[in-house]
Formats: sequence, C-alpha cells, structure tokens
Amino acid sequence: MFDPQRGFVDPLLAWHERHGRHDLPWREPDRTPFEILLAEVLLQRTTAEAVAGAYRPFAARYPTPGTIAAAPTEEIEALVAPLGLVKRAAYLRRCASEILAWNSGDVPREHSELVNLHGVGEYTARSVLIHVTGLGIAAVDTNVKRLLSRFFGVTADRDRIAVLADALAPSTRSGDFQHAMLDFAAEVCTAGSPACSSCPVREPCASSEG
Ligand code: SF4
Repeated sequence: MFDPQRGFVDPLLAWHERHGRHDLPWREPDRTPFEILLAEVLLQRTTAEAVAGAYRPFAARYPTPGTIAAAPTEEIEALVAPLGLVKRAAYLRRCASEILAWNSGDVPREHSELVNLHGVGEYTARSVLIHVTGLGIAAVDTNVKRLLSRFFGVTADRDRIAVLADALAPSTRSGDFQHAMLDFAAEVCTAGSPACSSCPVREPCASSEG
C-alpha cells in the first residue's frame, strides 16, 4: 500500500535539502512576522525571482506596520514599481493600517483574522501561519495544485487539493515542506515540460512521462 510520507513527502524534503532555493531573503530564519507578511503580499502573482531583487530594501525601509502606514503611497509605489504591480502599494498601506488598528501592530496569528486583512487571501493567510506559527498545514497555489494533481492523479478544485495538501504537511516541518513543494513545482514538475525522466518521485507518480 502506498505510503505518502515515504513515497512523496520524504523524497521532496530530501530533494529540497539539496536543490531548494535556500537563498531567498524572506526565508531567512530571523524574519519577523511582518516581514513574512510583506513577502507574501509581494509574491502574489509575481515570481520569486522578481521579488528577490526588491525585497531586501523594501523590508529594510518598512520593518513594521507603522512605518508603511505612515509612508506616502507614492514612495511605496516607487519601490514596488519594478514588480509591475503598483496597485499593491495602496493594498499594503491599508493592510498595515488594519494591523495597527485591529491588533496593536502585531500580525494576527488566527486564520480568521488574517483573511480579513486587505489583500490577504487564503494562500497568503496559510503561508503566514506556516512561517510564523509553524502550524502543520499547507498553502496551495497554482503550482502546488499542479504538482499534487499530477502526482496523485486527481482532477479536483483547489479546495479539495488543499485538504490533500494539509494531510501531507508534516506537523513539525510544514515550512520546509511548503518550500519543497513550491521549489519542486518550479524546478522539476513545471507547467510546460516536467522533468519526469530525472524526477525523484517518478515511480509512484500517477502522471509520470519518464
Ligand atoms: S514524474 Fe513528472 S509529473 Fe510526476 S511529479 Fe515528477 S515531474 Fe511531475
């Protein structure tokens, strides 16, 4: 009988230790909850490669909700302009103001409070919880959905895939597992040309072409 821990989770974690993107600045272990939230909002509909170049000066300039809430929108726009989504400057200011008003400047640690913040959806809320609290859940974006759908041979909507992803997430290493799924989907199980012939989980994969 197939064991998803040994057949999927463990090989992905092992792959990630060797090949994962360990140099992404928002994955540094001393990042604050607000810096993590900033990264997650910047990463919405934007590649990690693009955000990596803009993140350090952005997080250094706005280390707290108070600093971004007090900044002129035009100044924030200038810093996010290289990412191509200028509208996000206003989102971030409003989100920071809500954190100040509703939670005394602390990033909420409850899912229900996170998804109420402006610009924070299901994926962002889950990713913040994983990285800030270590909660043993997963966050499913388009790439993670593709990976899990292919590997398990299921065609399901994102909500059902999210249930599957939560069941797979290790209770003590959910952050590592999340990074592993994201990086693996970006590097190996890509949208256009999955590298099935060299994939470490090709044998149990329901969609292997290798
Ligand atoms: S075998 Fe191919 S389809 Fe399956 S997980 Fe690996 S890269 Fe993706």
